[in-house]
Amino acid sequence: MTKIKALALFSGGLDSILACKLMEQQGIEVEALHFVSSFFGRGKDRDLYPEEAWRHYGIRLSVIDVGESFIEVLRNPPHGYGRYFNPCVDCKILLLTRARRELASRGASFLVSGEVLGQRPMSQRRDTLRIVERDASVTGLLLRPLSALKLLPTRAEEEGVVDRTRLLGISGRGRKEQMALARDLGIHYYPAPAGGCVLTDPALSRRIKNLFVAIPVITENACLLMQVGRHFLLPGKSWLVVGRNEAENEEIKGLFQPGDLLMNITGGAGPTGLARGAAPFSDGSLAAGIVAGYSRLKGEPEVQVSIRGDGCETIRAVPAPSDTLRLYRLP
Ligand code: SF4
Repeated sequence: MTKIKALALFSGGLDSILACKLMEQQGIEVEALHFVSSFFGRGKDRDLYPEEAWRHYGIRLSVIDVGESFIEVLRNPPHGYGRYFNPCVDCKILLLTRARRELASRGASFLVSGEVLGQRPMSQRRDTLRIVERDASVTGLLLRPLSALKLLPTRAEEEGVVDRTRLLGISGRGRKEQMALARDLGIHYYPAPAGGCVLTDPALSRRIKNLFVAIPVITENACLLMQVGRHFLLPGKSWLVVGRNEAENEEIKGLFQPGDLLMNITGGAGPTGLARGAAPFSDGSLAAGIVAGYSRLKGEPEVQVSIRGDGCETIRAVPAPSDTLRLYRLP
């Protein structure tokens, strides 16, 4: 007999693991969908994740990149932002809509998520869950096994595909019931709750919000750059990023793209800077001075800075004093 199949939205947190396992206990075949963007999900090691999910939890998983669509949501979320620059309601609508569109091609008949009623202040209230279902067109199609007994039955329950009496009625922010269930199911390895989305980090979120206002063209590359190093908005409308350590310098170099200027102190005695924006580049010497201001040579009257763009040149820059650094730096 062909098994009934469900697609599960899989963040990688304990709740999503448990949701998959509760379905499997009822003989449902589950395929987990792990959505990634520049701001959430296992971006850097995404290729390893399916193998890891299988090894740790016996869960078959596919990774889906929604980066471009998420930028649009983040720029203008119809349901607004959460506490920080996190558009959680519209993010969930985006992911569920995408998951719904995957149903037919993956041979699945309903959706599953590990959401718990009342666990998050904005996006997991009862009224918000309904709004998300309505706007993603998944009403009756999305089963939340951890909180199902506190919610209306879904189509899968009504049709007897899933036995509602074997689902749970967890609600609220506590984790005890989930941890007990994990023990019962023999799940000992799982990431800590929360985390995973940089938009819930107060400092990073504030910076990203400021950059979304200041930068005219937001790409996935720009979103990654926003998360590295120190950031400056210069008077000629350029954006400068300066690494804080070797790893960040390497990351910044990796995000260089045509039109950017990459700055290094000659001889390597300082950070890497990447300037992007206004052309012709009116902020060049100020940017080089800021990069020099973070170098080991900041006490010198002048420092040689090599600049790589279309070509390569070396200029003499006066290291910017600390009040100039403060003036242009984004918090
Ligand atoms: S925390 Fe981030 S990934 Fe999670 S729903 Fe909100 S915006 Fe989306």
